[in-house]
Amino acid sequence: MTKLITGQIQYNLFQLNETDGAHLNVDAYLLTGTKAALLIDTLQETEELYERVRSITDKPLEAVISHGHPDHAGKGLKQFHEAGVKIWMTEEDIRLYKELFGGEYPEEWFSELKDGQTFDLGGQVIETILLPGHTPGSAVFFDEKQQRLYSSDAAGSGQFWMQIPGCIPLHEYREHLASLVSRMDRYPKLRVYPGHRWQSDTQLNLQYLHDTLDLTDMILEGKDQGKDLVMPFHGEPLHYRECSYGMMKGYCYNPGNL
Ligand SMILES: [Zn+2]
Repeated sequence: MTKLITGQIQYNLFQLNETDGAHLNVDAYLLTGTKAALLIDTLQETEELYERVRSITDKPLEAVISHGHPDHAGKGLKQFHEAGVKIWMTEEDIRLYKELFGGEYPEEWFSELKDGQTFDLGGQVIETILLPGHTPGSAVFFDEKQQRLYSSDAAGSGQFWMQIPGCIPLHEYREHLASLVSRMDRYPKLRVYPGHRWQSDTQLNLQYLHDTLDLTDMILEGKDQGKDLVMPFHGEPLHYRECSYGMMKGYCYNPGNL
């Protein structure tokens, strides 16, 4: 049984947290503008998300899915689809959602999310920036005016999963991350809102993105101070390494996928 907890971060920004009190703890974000609202991700098990969102806003609503993992594109999707809410996800991750994770809802439910696509909510304009890595079609969402970046799992949440099947080679991710970081450097007050906020006890920011990039470079240069670990993944042992640097407390990667 999971709980759905609403938190208000700012007058126009809500955190919707789903937790089972153990391993499952994931965040979606609801952005409310003067004209429209945008939901980022639909959590995993909870089926009351649509109702909860509608208790906060009655504005025209669209939903974006950051990537095709089941804890961000879960059972809540159904209610949004049935209510006629447009649901966006990148083509690459619609495929991943179906092939790798057996996503239960049909491709036709999704509209194809593109790099650079914007959502004008009135008072906040949200830009889609693709950041492939954690998945081939991961997207982050940027609000330039308010210096907010909604990053889901694309740069981790203080911990980072780059070790699982479906992640792209680390040197390719490095280039995508470097280009995001160089763009974000113009926004010193940047606040980063990730998909698993509980994994860090501090507000993630521009420094966090730099630490993640620097650690990616250390890994690629064979200079990380990490350790070898193993975890079960879909019933199989998954071997990986974990290392840390600065605000990045647990960067997990597959040494066979550099
Ligand atoms: Zn993920």
